[in-house]
Amino acid sequence: MYAARLARPIAIRPLSFRSFSSATVSPFIFATRTRNFHNTSKQKNTTIENVASTTTTSHMTTSSMKSSNSISPSEYLTPLKTSELVSYLCIGMCTLNKPILDLCIKVFPYVPMFLIKALVYKLYCGGETIEEVKQTGLNLSKRGINNMMISLTIEGCDGNDNIDPEFIVTETQNSVNDILIPHTISMIENSGKDINSIPPGYVALKPTGFTKNAANVLKNHATDPKFEELVANAAKICQSIYEANVEMAAKYPARTAPFVVGVIDAEKYDLQEGVYELQRRLYALFNPVNKPVSIVGTLQMYLSGSSDLLAKEEKLAMANNYRLGLKLVRGAYIHSEKQRSTVIHKTKEDTDNNYNQGISYCIESIVADANKTNGSTIGHLVVASHNADSLRLATDKLPLESVNRSNVVLGQLLGMADNITYDLIKNNGVDNIIKYVAWGPPLETKEYLLRRLEENGDAVRADNGFQLVREVSTILFKRLFRMA
Ligand SMILES: Cc1cc2nc3c(=O)[nH]c(=O)nc-3n(C[C@H](O)[C@H](O)[C@H](O)COP(=O)(O)OP(=O)(O)OC[C@H]3O[C@@H](n4cnc5c(N)ncnc54)[C@H](O)[C@@H]3O)c2cc1C
Repeated sequence: MYAARLARPIAIRPLSFRSFSSATVSPFIFATRTRNFHNTSKQKNTTIENVASTTTTSHMTTSSMKSSNSISPSEYLTPLKTSELVSYLCIGMCTLNKPILDLCIKVFPYVPMFLIKALVYKLYCGGETIEEVKQTGLNLSKRGINNMMISLTIEGCDGNDNIDPEFIVTETQNSVNDILIPHTISMIENSGKDINSIPPGYVALKPTGFTKNAANVLKNHATDPKFEELVANAAKICQSIYEANVEMAAKYPARTAPFVVGVIDAEKYDLQEGVYELQRRLYALFNPVNKPVSIVGTLQMYLSGSSDLLAKEEKLAMANNYRLGLKLVRGAYIHSEKQRSTVIHKTKEDTDNNYNQGISYCIESIVADANKTNGSTIGHLVVASHNADSLRLATDKLPLESVNRSNVVLGQLLGMADNITYDLIKNNGVDNIIKYVAWGPPLETKEYLLRRLEENGDAVRADNGFQLVREVSTILFKRLFRMA
């Protein structure tokens, strides 16, 4: 059980593969930084309900880990197409320093879409249509990334209630049938890899997209009758996913992991109780014991109550006879979270410790199910992070020969941490890796792009963009010179 095992220190093997910068959150941050790993003792009696009254305690004891030899930017950038390099050049210029980035964030909403599409769109977005996303999947496979987490970027949070839940359900089902299933089968049949080396295809399901006024419905899930509509809409997609898994498992019996997976995204804290309830309902319906999981829910490990929540989810799963699929993230809403001081870990180190302990625990549970019986309560894990140390920890903890390898998958957003992804694949033979591919109507993806730019703002604390501009300019100059 998670609760009982949290006190254990996380064992991190000495660097078993070429290390890369822990600061590398975006593809354009190349600075090397050393990070210390610490153990955090479990917070007692913390739950998502009472977390406000609980204090964080941390014991900073364990070894420090040095990052050296960070991957050379030119190694990653040189094979790219000229158009991709131009996109990186733009991003590098926008992130030269914090004031320039802040200015770009302010101006961004007024930049015409055609300019965005010409300059940076392809770096971060999978396309506007199913055909374009399929092509993105093929392009990723050429980089050794054999599957995706696709996300139709239409959502109704923050007062945007101009959504059509029926359209979202239908279009998401279409994306599973027309993108994920054929792509996964094609990778299994044509990649030349072992069937258990291909990660599943994921579809991200935004709880705020499944009914009108979803934010309020989620907040009042216990009393609002529209919560049932929200669950039913999500369940329609999950039903197709479950059926596809059953069908494909009959065709490919050697496969341990699911083929396609529905992933419930996590939202702001005040919506999360509703989201947890949604996840539990879907687990109970579609993650039966002794079968690969079809549904993955998300836990935000920056929440100080998240370790207890993980223990609670595991208990509920055992009591109610279903399996857990988990996507562990640190959490995206730290800047907008109204209750930040009470619900989020006090320091980044505490979040990091909690995250690393969470992924370690889940991986150990999954790997322990060595007989391929799909018997462990935690059946599937997505390590959704750009943090080099966490990705390395997950990689080190997962034996190369494990039959459950494709039940632990590393995920990054398309266009983020690309140099880390590159290093994991090329220099460390990692193949359990996917990219989160946002796609959909241009206006919505523009908002998604703005969020990426804002998120990159976190990373741009030093003048890192200059290094990218310099590297890209050098490569472009050499190409031009050769052409002349
Ligand atoms: C595939 C994928 C899916 C995702 N899905 C979701 C989702 O459904 N819901 C969601 O909320 N997020 C989601 N995220 C975003 C994620 O939560 C993080 O915001 C993002 O990945 C940055 O964290 P990191 O682990 O990559 O790296 P890092 O850069 O190491 O961590 C940054 C994160 O650390 C935490 N942090 C920073 N400063 C502090 C501090 N002072 N105190 C405490 N904590 C701090 C914050 O969570 C911050 O985002 C997803 C990310 C990926 C890659």
